[in-house]
Amino acid sequence: MKLLLIGPPGSGKGTQGGRLAERLGIEHLAAGDLLRAEVAEGTELGREAEAIMKRGDLVPDDVIIALVMPRVEAAVAANGYLLDGFPRTVEQAVEARKLAERVDAAPDAVLYLDVPREELMRRILARAETEGRADDTEDTVRNRLKVFDEATSPLVDYYRQRGLLHVIDADQSEDDVTAAIVEVLPG
Ligand code: ADP
Repeated sequence: MKLLLIGPPGSGKGTQGGRLAERLGIEHLAAGDLLRAEVAEGTELGREAEAIMKRGDLVPDDVIIALVMPRVEAAVAANGYLLDGFPRTVEQAVEARKLAERVDAAPDAVLYLDVPREELMRRILARAETEGRADDTEDTVRNRLKVFDEATSPLVDYYRQRGLLHVIDADQSEDDVTAAIVEVLPG
């Protein structure tokens, strides 16, 4: 199974991604986690990404593609993947499709986690208290939401046009969201 999770910051991509990947026995690939690991290790890529992430902007397409695509290809060769946070722009989706043509890495379904704006802000500011992520400050969150609206939300139409999109009401308990996703997964 090959799945994409799309949603604004705070919509629960990480939580649902982890649960679903475990349940389905597929690889959970979270773009933000991969970037944060590079920052923590102090690699060249991590040093380049750190300031961009702190502002809530997107790292350059070639950087994220180089980080994610080898892992996608490896996961396709195994049981499949659940990608969360990639692609995040239509350009990334188009480029990823070109790169992975040989291995048929195209997703079987795309899940859009839909949550009202006020609830997103509430969740992220609550998470900031416990997790201490450098990009969970109010100003950065506002920018991340703007970046989502401008750069990422066109992806929702892109996948809808391809007949792959499922809109999930993600303003429910974690268990209910997981159940709603499982219900729409292709057999
Ligand atoms: P969230 O969805 O809550 O913003 P993520 O952990 O998915 O959290 O992403 C954190 C940050 O990592 C983003 O704000 C961005 O700077 C960077 N990032 C993650 N995925 C991508 C991507 N596909 N393209 C560019 N930048 C990305």
